[in-house]
Amino acid sequence: MAEPIEMRDAEPESPEAKPSACPDCGSTAIVAIAYGMPVREMRAESGGEPGPAGAVGQSPRWYCQYCFHRWPQDLFSELDWAAESEQQYLTEKTAEFASLCVEAAMTPHPEEPAVEKYWLQDNGRRVFLMSFPWGRVRVERGLHLVPLGGPPVYEASADSVPQGVDEHKAKRLAQLAAVRFDRKTSA
Ligand SMILES: [Zn+2]
Repeated sequence: MAEPIEMRDAEPESPEAKPSACPDCGSTAIVAIAYGMPVREMRAESGGEPGPAGAVGQSPRWYCQYCFHRWPQDLFSELDWAAESEQQYLTEKTAEFASLCVEAAMTPHPEEPAVEKYWLQDNGRRVFLMSFPWGRVRVERGLHLVPLGGPPVYEASADSVPQGVDEHKAKRLAQLAAVRFDRKTSA
């Protein structure tokens, strides 16, 4: 009896060629994002591949395993607030930023990560790759609320956080390190 053929490695139907390098960091560790997966992020909880997010929709199509960039740029995060309550989002982000600033003015937490790399995207977003002993967290500083009188937004994302690591705490420490870094470099 013939084994069913595993189609996973087959080329995607799209004629779009795989980019040779990540437009953000230049890494060649690029994978195509699989569609038809559950919305939001699928985490590799069982030690599998650091699964790329399977957002339902048109984009993004590509995922960088080094800096966790997804492109074409996913604008969900900037559209979310417009679709729901702008005012509530603005209030939440203002409070979040204020609390980050308070903490960033204090002595760094011993587990706070180092800035491994940072760069500026064409859209004005600043991207930080924060280095923990177990891996990296990506932080993007978006300025989309500034025209509304809001704060910069530091969004943290991580993939394949190992067991035993508090992901929420790691993201918070990464955000703090980014705020601290921004203060130092803009002073
Ligand atoms: Zn990259």
